[in-house]
Amino acid sequence: MNLIKAEFITSSANLKSCPPMNTPEFAFIGRSNVGKSSLINFITNRKKLAKVSQTPGKTRLINHFLINDQWYLVDLPGYGFARLSRSERESLEKLIYSYFSERKNIEHTFVLVDSRLEPQVNDISFMAWLASRKIGFTIVFTKSDKLSKGKLAKNMTHYMTYLTEFRPYATEIIPSSILDHSGKEEILEVIANYLDEPSS
Ligand code: GDP
Repeated sequence: MNLIKAEFITSSANLKSCPPMNTPEFAFIGRSNVGKSSLINFITNRKKLAKVSQTPGKTRLINHFLINDQWYLVDLPGYGFARLSRSERESLEKLIYSYFSERKNIEHTFVLVDSRLEPQVNDISFMAWLASRKIGFTIVFTKSDKLSKGKLAKNMTHYMTYLTEFRPYATEIIPSSILDHSGKEEILEVIANYLDEPSS
């Protein structure tokens, strides 16, 4: 897929203010600092697209970007929540979980994880929840430039053993790096396949 046009549409603090569900969408989610904004800017060829709405204090919003006038790239708030109070954390969790429960136009989800880390409890429990809701997802292994090829392959194999638990909802890991310019074509190809074969 050629990415011709990427346009910021809106930032929403709740489901009601999100755009209508008449356009297929692809969600990007991961723990804060995983490299989500960088990856979105890289995929869309825009230096600051993902930062448009991410001024300080506004990172708890859901951002919709319209791509090629055809599909939404959805930038969901980062989880991990270390710096939030318990009630803030709970309301953010509620927002994320209700998003996936109610947005019927989500075609597919990309869960970003740092390629250097051991599988983290909150990533795995989020994936388990997606699988329990029959929501398909692809793992994106971010910052892959920080590892040797051998170590990256080893970490991917290790992570795959966790994913067997979530089959058929998770099958693939795509390594990505904004420094090596890798992963973009593979992510766009996954999206193109869903757009060619819309789910019923
Ligand atoms: P977010 O909080 O998930 O949106 O993460 P950011 O996109 O702000 O990235 C967090 C940090 O990781 C920043 O310092 C980025 O420069 C760095 N980063 C993001 N992607 C990569 C990558 O592919 N390679 C390397 N080496 N650093 C990255």
